[in-house]
Amino acid sequence: MDLRKFIRDVPDFPKKGIIFKDITPLLLNGQAFRFAVKEMLRPYDGERIDKILAVEARGFIFGAPMAYERGCGLIIARKKGKLPWKTVQASYSLEYGEASVEIHQDSIGKGDRILIVDDLIATGGTARALASLVEAQGGKVVGFSFLVELTFLKGREALGNYRVETIIKY
Ligand code: AMP
Repeated sequence: MDLRKFIRDVPDFPKKGIIFKDITPLLLNGQAFRFAVKEMLRPYDGERIDKILAVEARGFIFGAPMAYERGCGLIIARKKGKLPWKTVQASYSLEYGEASVEIHQDSIGKGDRILIVDDLIATGGTARALASLVEAQGGKVVGFSFLVELTFLKGREALGNYRVETIIKY
């Protein structure tokens, strides 16, 4: 299935010069959504994964059904100030701004094998911050899974030796 036709380009959102990759047409198509979730998991079929870490907000959309499908735990990484319990956080720069992300400090056990999930990798800043959070908590990053990769922003390079799997490349 060609998922590319379900991604809508929205120019100049949220800022002039950014072409926003809108995934909502894909979510509207049940078959495409299901296929996307399965494809995002498939490269990790043979790997032990204890928990999936999904990033607010669009990462949740894919990370939650992936965790359900695998029968593993789900860690939600949220923007600063949203989580109710004690947190650990990391700051990073975005293609269009600055942000901080945090997880509950008890969400990762020592040696936990974690798959990090988001809808899209741009510069890789978000992903790198999440990997550092996982490792600071004693977890092991098995890899990353993204639906969309903006190859021209070289996020994959920013992630060095980590395993990076993506479905749709621009
Ligand atoms: P980055 O940290 O630069 O890899 O940015 C990735 C995060 O920003 C992801 O959570 C994406 O959802 C969002 N993002 C960045 N650029 C875009 C874009 N052009 N279209 C849609 N989402 C984007």
